[in-house]
Amino acid sequence: MDIIDFANIPCTIGALEYLRNSDIGSNDLCTHVAFGSIRTTGKERVLEALQDGAIKYRRGNKPASEKELLAYPIARIIVSCINNNSLTKRYALAVAKSSYEYIKELKSAVLLKELAADFGINITPDARNVNVAMHFTDYIHHARVLHEPKWKLLNRTVQQGMLTISKNDLARLMEEAVRKKVESGLPHEVPQDIREALKPYINEVQEAINARASKQDFSRDGFSEVVPDCFPPCISSAIADVQANVNLSHTMRFAMTSFLLNIGMKPEKITEIFRASPDFREQDTNYQISHISGASGTTYTCPSCATMGTNGNCPCKAPACKKIEHPLVYYRRKVWIENKKQATRKIEPQKGGGQVDGIAN
Ligand code: SF4
Repeated sequence: MDIIDFANIPCTIGALEYLRNSDIGSNDLCTHVAFGSIRTTGKERVLEALQDGAIKYRRGNKPASEKELLAYPIARIIVSCINNNSLTKRYALAVAKSSYEYIKELKSAVLLKELAADFGINITPDARNVNVAMHFTDYIHHARVLHEPKWKLLNRTVQQGMLTISKNDLARLMEEAVRKKVESGLPHEVPQDIREALKPYINEVQEAINARASKQDFSRDGFSEVVPDCFPPCISSAIADVQANVNLSHTMRFAMTSFLLNIGMKPEKITEIFRASPDFREQDTNYQISHISGASGTTYTCPSCATMGTNGNCPCKAPACKKIEHPLVYYRRKVWIENKKQATRKIEPQKGGGQVDGIAN
């Protein structure tokens, strides 16, 4: 692999090694005046991911590739400092989509094999470099999050543990591997002096996030009776996934929809949340929501934490999840705590002197 490959798939072991051996230290990259344009590039890639959900291809020659690769750690620092779940997922997905486009077009079978091996996938391309053979366990490991029927192992022919897929399908599997790898290391710790040095870039991205949020009006509108800040991690993470264009598993779609219905969100608002989903079909979504809400005679309740865990839908045991057995209990408790805090805040000024009301009047 060379610098052009590294710039196109910047999370490979080779790319990280290249960055480690670079003459430019990470501190200089973030602070030195000479590298201002690299910092700007890093910020622009984050903005592209946020606004377009994709990072455009600009890495056709060595100098352009070097700049893109050096901008990658800057982009990751910006994403880490902002520490917004939706931005993190959107950025990881944009890097992955850009990698997909590159892998799909790769002409060299040797390079394809090398790249796949970098992600732990052992492949054997055929003579024309159109299809590749791989062990079914590697296939399952990466395909299990893809929900279209064609990815089911049942729909592939397995012979002596091996199956054959097209190069395009391999690129799709590797897109998933890239997304996971980029996302898994984010957010990372950032020293205070680096945060300070990158403050203007971080602020610019934060402003873009705020502008998007107020346009989408997701955070408040339609939630009049419900409080998104009190959602448990499993539901917040599913919503962030949907907003970042990541496909949800069927079980997670069910859990998220039933949870939102159970806490009183309007079906139209739930449809709006799913609209960003890559496989969104309005009619199907509306049907599923109305089915879960009881149109067929059974009203469904969000699954318990135990079921969520079994289905791989519990992202963590956050401290607030301790002793929680149901996402709805988590939510109700948090709402109760928030309401109590607000009530205390309202009472406190009166304790300090009844003049506040008098002045306001
Ligand atoms: S413990 Fe329960 S509420 Fe918390 S994230 Fe897991 S499933 Fe959700």
